[in-house]
Amino acid sequence: MIVRFWGVRGSSPTPLGPEELRGKISAVLQRVKPTDLVNSDARQRFLAKLPPDLFGTVGGNTACIEVRTAGGEMIILDMGTGLWELEKRMRKYRERIREFHIFISHFHYDHLLGLPYFGAMYDPGVKVNFYSPYPAMERILARFMEKPYHPVGWDSFTAKTEFHVLKPNDSMKFGQAVVSWIKRNHPNGSMSYKVTETGRSFIYSTDTELTEKDFHRTPRNVEYFQGADAIVLDAQYTLGEAIEKYNWGHSSYSLAVEFAREFEIKQLFLYHHEPLNTDSDMEGILRSAQWFDRRLDHKGHGTLDIDLAREGYVLEL
Ligand SMILES: [Zn+2]
Ligand SMILES: [Zn+2]
Repeated sequence: MIVRFWGVRGSSPTPLGPEELRGKISAVLQRVKPTDLVNSDARQRFLAKLPPDLFGTVGGNTACIEVRTAGGEMIILDMGTGLWELEKRMRKYRERIREFHIFISHFHYDHLLGLPYFGAMYDPGVKVNFYSPYPAMERILARFMEKPYHPVGWDSFTAKTEFHVLKPNDSMKFGQAVVSWIKRNHPNGSMSYKVTETGRSFIYSTDTELTEKDFHRTPRNVEYFQGADAIVLDAQYTLGEAIEKYNWGHSSYSLAVEFAREFEIKQLFLYHHEPLNTDSDMEGILRSAQWFDRRLDHKGHGTLDIDLAREGYVLEL
């Protein structure tokens, strides 16, 4: 399967502002030497050596991840503003996808904002399937588009739609791929989704406030999390912020690291980035998470790759 990260911010879209952009340009200019500019190779080497917070950005769009199964199914996890980036990619490559499967973690705005602008919804030749444990999901989504919140309502969509109500701890097959789910601790609830195909597994667990019982090695937790190839996990806060914001529904990067280690997950992507954090703050958080991981006693268990979820990143599993 191929996983593409289209939106990685939490709570609110966070465009790269002019002040932060000017800061990046200024910091790059301070580093450059005349020898870095002599020819194209030298310039490329200089750019390649720049830290990621100067030569890029983690991105400002809210939650949206695409999972393209090896069998060609298009699975979308959440419809934050990142959905528009997915839309742009499909337009650029003139992809004509006839069926979408959209799994909704929950209905907070940062997970829905892309839906009204998703072109597929206005194409009568397309079918869009929605999945959530809420039987009222169609009404909930339609209310989100009511006047005066949006100029056109749900009835302006012309795509065929189908709503699939998910039963607890169940799973569904899409060709060779299996999607399963588990409930997470978050205000109004949140669903984690896991896609497994040809022995590889990817877990999406946004908007998750990890508690002690999440670390319990219950049969269900072990079945779902143990040994997964990659997890995208809510790590909006530092440990101090997580204590201060207890019950706000998000986790610290340190708990995310401990969780990935507990279940021997191979790759951890810190996700749902705090909108107040700059790219430089985010790289600092990544370094702290990696430092924290090195301090843990791993009892000889394998390695854990930790990175920030970055907009546009492509993960092949
Ligand atoms: Zn959120
Ligand atoms: Zn939420």
